[in-house]
Amino acid sequence: MAARIGALEAGGTKMVLAVGSEDGSIEEQVSMPTVEPDRVVPEMADWFREKGVDAIGIGAFGPTGVNPKSPDYGHILFTPKLAWQGYDFLGKMREGCDVPMGYDTDVNVACLGEATFGCARGLDSVVYITIGTGIGAGVMIGGELVHGMLHPEAGHILLNVSPDDPGKSVCPSHNRCFEGLAAGPSIEARWGAKAVDLQGRDDVWELESDYIAQALENYVVCYSPQKIILGGGVMHQEQLFPLIREKFARYLNNYLRTPELEDLDSYIVPNSLDEKQGILGCIELGRRALAAS
Ligand code: ADP
Ligand code: ZN
Repeated sequence: MAARIGALEAGGTKMVLAVGSEDGSIEEQVSMPTVEPDRVVPEMADWFREKGVDAIGIGAFGPTGVNPKSPDYGHILFTPKLAWQGYDFLGKMREGCDVPMGYDTDVNVACLGEATFGCARGLDSVVYITIGTGIGAGVMIGGELVHGMLHPEAGHILLNVSPDDPGKSVCPSHNRCFEGLAAGPSIEARWGAKAVDLQGRDDVWELESDYIAQALENYVVCYSPQKIILGGGVMHQEQLFPLIREKFARYLNNYLRTPELEDLDSYIVPNSLDEKQGILGCIELGRRALAAS
């Protein structure tokens, strides 16, 4: 009988729970608001136990401990959500549902989902960027999700502020980081309107695409991905894609020449799994945890 895999996409606003199979089919899916952990975590563990899952993959909001050898593995670290700060998320899930569990960041599982089931299938080096309330990047290199000392926080790379920028960074830590300059709240603070209502404003998307293109140039020269995937609420503005590709090519300035870079329409792409990349990445993470157990 095929294994039943639990998937938990743990976001700062809501939790998405699903049960599926290793082929990426989803049998059932529910969501719950991200209230205090003492309330929501036991409820989620009970849900998975009652479904009789064989393993669970968890993609968590960060920063969070993703190194199994570290004492903070599976803990949520310094978050403005105080009730979650230092919380032993993975440990408490295990208390309520004792099955093999895989644990990684929300953006790393989105990257894994695309690399296993989506537009990056068959590739082993991929960057997945989400531009929404914040900016995060999931990075896979040589088939492995990158952790390093903690995990990449590539939304906080420093960029050159455009002389045409009428606003400023909204990141409390950095006055010119990518997230502070280009995530949804930054767009809204700069232009005084909801990002979705700015669709017809060319100046908004010229500036936004400039920041995104700068960031991608940095990711390409550092991580050398075979594909870059862009998701998150802001990327619903599809007019961004051609602007980003054009500016990216200008910033890279022919410094690298590879077959991938010759076809930017296939190199810099939207996510492909109908907003299911995270939950499907959790399924794959759970499958790997089961196989390793
Ligand atoms: P989260 O990052 O909280 O998981 P989203 O990826 O939906 O959620 O990001 C929310 C942000 O994306 C908000 O700041 C919002 O302004 C922006 N956003 C959502 N939908 C759109 C849209 N259609 N066009 C532009 N911006 C959007
Ligand atoms: Zn920052």
